[in-house]
Amino acid sequence: MKFHFSFKEYDPKAEAVYGTILTLGNGYIGIRGEIELEPTIYGTTIAGVYDYAPYFYREIVNAPRVIGLQIFFNGEPISLSTQKILKYERELNIEDATLKTLIAIETRSRTHIEYESLRIVHGKRKNLILLKFKIKANEDGMLTIISPIKTNVVNPSYRNEIMVKHLNVIQTEDGENEIYAEVETLDGRYRIGIASSLISETKAKRAVIKSADGIAEILTLSVKKNRTYEFIKYITILSSKTPTPNLREAVLQKLQIAKNSCFGRLYEEHRGYWKEIWKRAKIEIEGDKNAENGLNFSIFHLIQSMPIDSRISLTARGIHGFGYRGHVFWDTEIYALPFFMAVFPEKAREMLMYRYNNLNAARENAKLNGYNGAQFPWESADDGYEATPSVIPLDMMGKKVVKIYTGEEEHHITADIAYAVELYYKFTGDEEFMSRYGLEIILETARFWASRVEYDEKKGYVIKKVIGPDEYHEHVDNSFFTNLMARYNLLLAVKYFKIARRSGGEWAKTLKRINITEEEVQRWLEIAEKIHIPRQKNGVFEEFEGYFDLSDYTLDPYGLGEKRLPKEIRRNLRKTKIIKQADVIAAQYLLKDQFDLETIKKNFDYYIIRTTHASSLSMPPYAIVASWLDYEDLAYDYFMKCAFIDLHNLYGNTQDGFHLATAGGVWQIMFRGFCGININDEGVEINPKLPKKWKAVRLRFFFKRALLNLEVRKDSVRVKLLEGREVKMQAFGRDAVVKRGKEIILRK
Ligand code: BGC
Ligand code: BGC
Repeated sequence: MKFHFSFKEYDPKAEAVYGTILTLGNGYIGIRGEIELEPTIYGTTIAGVYDYAPYFYREIVNAPRVIGLQIFFNGEPISLSTQKILKYERELNIEDATLKTLIAIETRSRTHIEYESLRIVHGKRKNLILLKFKIKANEDGMLTIISPIKTNVVNPSYRNEIMVKHLNVIQTEDGENEIYAEVETLDGRYRIGIASSLISETKAKRAVIKSADGIAEILTLSVKKNRTYEFIKYITILSSKTPTPNLREAVLQKLQIAKNSCFGRLYEEHRGYWKEIWKRAKIEIEGDKNAENGLNFSIFHLIQSMPIDSRISLTARGIHGFGYRGHVFWDTEIYALPFFMAVFPEKAREMLMYRYNNLNAARENAKLNGYNGAQFPWESADDGYEATPSVIPLDMMGKKVVKIYTGEEEHHITADIAYAVELYYKFTGDEEFMSRYGLEIILETARFWASRVEYDEKKGYVIKKVIGPDEYHEHVDNSFFTNLMARYNLLLAVKYFKIARRSGGEWAKTLKRINITEEEVQRWLEIAEKIHIPRQKNGVFEEFEGYFDLSDYTLDPYGLGEKRLPKEIRRNLRKTKIIKQADVIAAQYLLKDQFDLETIKKNFDYYIIRTTHASSLSMPPYAIVASWLDYEDLAYDYFMKCAFIDLHNLYGNTQDGFHLATAGGVWQIMFRGFCGININDEGVEINPKLPKKWKAVRLRFFFKRALLNLEVRKDSVRVKLLEGREVKMQAFGRDAVVKRGKEIILRK
């Protein structure tokens, strides 16, 4: 496995793309990959710290920049943008989660200077960031290093000219060996404390400067030619909800502890942490190094974003950037969570707990819209209220705006969450979660759907005025995806109500707490049975009512995006059959058991040539279904596109953060598509459909607390149980029971 990704060309215009690709994070802190020696607008992201924002309700805050440095040799800056570059290399090591930077420059007075740094956002110590760097010059001279906490940061907003300020500086303080800054969000809800200390191996003069920009330590030392000088910058960050007692003490104490532990030990600890991570998460693909790299690269960024607790869930663009304002979408439950359920089930649980913790907000949301139960917001931030903008301005005045209807109409999110709750339970058997929390989510969301439907004499229960995953068509009635998922949600509630009633204990307590009656459940069943499903033409389901009457246009399934459409089509997308992303096919993927393969094929063949894939969420479901249908080339093509989506900046917006839904999607293509792994009530079912090149896939995952080690080949599956008692398996139609320690091979 290639664990190093190196980049050797410095292009200031591409820095923001590398900023995302080279992000380091530990689920709590995210530091984008922009080079530390150049100015940038990007500071630090801290998972869970949000503030009010115009139009977007709440957005993740661009917290103070702590990684930046300014270095001068005899008064000349060591910088890429102003000096001659002799050498440039950046290397992201995903095995160790470190970022190396190597630079050699020639100053205007012809001095050659080498700079090398190693960056760490500590895996285990969630509050710690480390930067170790070395400098060597080929002349004697004076070295000046400025190491700031830049508090003067703002958020990039919906237009380049508009920046949003989120932080007030509460205090800056120069200690004996460190500097400290404390800031508060403008809404007063959060405080962030930051301590930083720059240590020089050789004796240096130290000073501190405060400015409108923040606070900085300055070291000066005279250096001898051709000698290497080493420095370490220690940074600790802690955020908390206000009021915040002892924030300063806690941050300074963490800094002191880190400094006392010496860099080498901290580095080893960090590497040890990632070694354990990769033991579980690494995927080996024999026969296709390229695919292996892209897949593990995607997994790496997913893991870096995995939240440390249930205050916030995985966001659409991770701790990597500000795209979608740090909001949580269905991307999390439908695209990213299956990976976590299988590989880090304890984290999947926390992400679902985030939804549970926001159930009251979802109840209020339902009430506000005139419904019962719990309605989850299309976009969710730190407090669980609807965070979708209702308009996005197109000009400075806000006179021209685009109206955004997703927050009002994209209701499938509520069923998607219930779906994920059940999938988590199937994967983990976590009854403690299901009986207390999962059950409540499933029942309250069913209540929402029961109030959301209307009765139509001819059609039965209908759901009007929604947006399905295909967002080109708004205000549609009876969306296939939405109605199917709503029905699934209602039936889940019926099923788990019955289980709960039988089981007593925590299950019964939950039923009592939310006061469910037999009649209510009876009604859910009736709605589910009579919910209207859009018509079928030649086996193809209509995406929503009236879709088949729209004007037709078809596309090359290997293409991507809207640009390839003629202008008049692009301007009138909603009047055409062109769709943005997998919709009917996404439903058939998620609810596979409800369809036979022949029907799925008809629908696939129809919709694939009418989809632009303008959303990066489109290709994964199509790829998985393509592999089921033996459309191997297309499945593989989509897999590779998704696996390199950000490395190749395929959507042109990588600078806004990592496409985590796609990253989760890549893993699902491998798992559900190519390896053909399906989790059912009994156990694990495997029907491999490996791409031609792939000789074998080796992976590990958890099923009901058992840890399985798998080697999947085209004609055999080798399984070993590393933890847990036993697991029922089925591969190539053969049944087996895998027991602890024993290896079995199932052959075609
Ligand atoms: C997305 C919607 C989202 C909206 C506002 C659009 O680009 O497609 O899903 O709600 O932006 O954030
Ligand atoms: C997609 C949505 C997605 C959102 C956030 C939109 O463009 O259409 O399905 O949830 O982006 O990634």
